[in-house]
Amino acid sequence: MPQAAEPLVFAATCDLAGHVRGKGFPEADLAKRLRRGIGFTGSNIMMSAFGPIYETPFGTQGDLMLVPDPSTRVDVPFEGSASERFYLGDLKTTEGDHWEFCPRHFLRCALDALHALTGMTLKAAFEQEFVYTGVEERPSATYALDAFRRQDRFGELFLGAVRAAGAVPDSFLPEYGARQYEVTVGPSIGLRAADEAVIVREMARAVAWRLGHRAIFAPMLTPDGIGNGTHIHFSLVDGNGAPALHDPSGQHELSQAGVHFAAGILRHLPTLAAITAPSAASYYRLTPNRWAPTTVDLGVRDRGAALRVCPVFAAEGAADVAGQFNLEYRVADATASPYLALGAVVWAGLEGIRAQLPLPEPNGARPLPASLDAALRELAADEAARGWFGGAFHDVYLQFKRSELAQLGHATPADVCRRYAEVY
Ligand code: GLU
Ligand code: MG
Repeated sequence: MPQAAEPLVFAATCDLAGHVRGKGFPEADLAKRLRRGIGFTGSNIMMSAFGPIYETPFGTQGDLMLVPDPSTRVDVPFEGSASERFYLGDLKTTEGDHWEFCPRHFLRCALDALHALTGMTLKAAFEQEFVYTGVEERPSATYALDAFRRQDRFGELFLGAVRAAGAVPDSFLPEYGARQYEVTVGPSIGLRAADEAVIVREMARAVAWRLGHRAIFAPMLTPDGIGNGTHIHFSLVDGNGAPALHDPSGQHELSQAGVHFAAGILRHLPTLAAITAPSAASYYRLTPNRWAPTTVDLGVRDRGAALRVCPVFAAEGAADVAGQFNLEYRVADATASPYLALGAVVWAGLEGIRAQLPLPEPNGARPLPASLDAALRELAADEAARGWFGGAFHDVYLQFKRSELAQLGHATPADVCRRYAEVY
């Protein structure tokens, strides 16, 4: 062993597959790398959920820069092991312009468009479920103190890492499924909310790995198991930072903008599924009796709904009701890049505001797509969604996801779940 260790930093994006990928460099070069980034190529964005590049329109040509964003800095020390030191960043051309296929820029464009039209921005927090393999499977572990105890130091180390990485832990609990846990963090504005979703996932993996285990975020580990959802809580915030989703006299207590925003999401929900629940395994989760959505609906305090009006806790007084008030988008899981998922939700909501859409009648709610293939057909046919991406990215995303499906071929449902559980 040499005496001297060279501190390394990793620059990453959370890509079309929802994987966190990038390159490392000596920390000594950080100032230069923050300016210039590190080399990347178009086809890197086509690395599949399972690893290989199956198809790529970019070929072997072209150079890009993955430029770390200083606001995403993670530098979390671990006793007896290397620090977790990474940045999330943007894919740019060698001229320094945002690359049109950058997932993080997709979200930035959606937020910019929302702001340009309404003066508002979005506050959001991701609630994430996963299976921690460091505990044995036991009956009746559901929400049990005993299941909480048995994860031992994982939870404390995990939440400590989350806080050290700059997010604010809110809760950590044993969920309904065997070995299933859930983590929530406080809300953040705009891009930062998606950055934190990525960081929280990586901190779970970082701690689990150091303990000799895994945190598995795949939507379903077996076709008849319990789903791991990634629920996106969000609200609108006006130009002064004041809550803008709540109106006590509005429909479901939603402000006028909130009604339209929710209506836009519901209008485009089958399309959104292709982006927010974007794996073959996602559709085993979106089935009845799992507290996961199956239809295009808005529910008030209903955890079966696709879009849920969440409760506010008024017991301490009504002062902060508007601040607490939020919607929860539940048709999402961790096979989606948080940048694409949140970006698509914002784009769809914005469509609702633009067209001043009313909420649909609650009766006769349409079913959600029953498979990724069906969801991709919705996305392909949605002209508005083509505009969200810009035409070329729309095509590339469809090609990316279709090649993932083709690769699975006629795999059995159990095999599909197993393959995603290996990699998420
Ligand atoms: N596990 C459920 C899902 O797949 C959610 C349970 C809950 O309401 O937290 O979305
Ligand atoms: Mg939960």
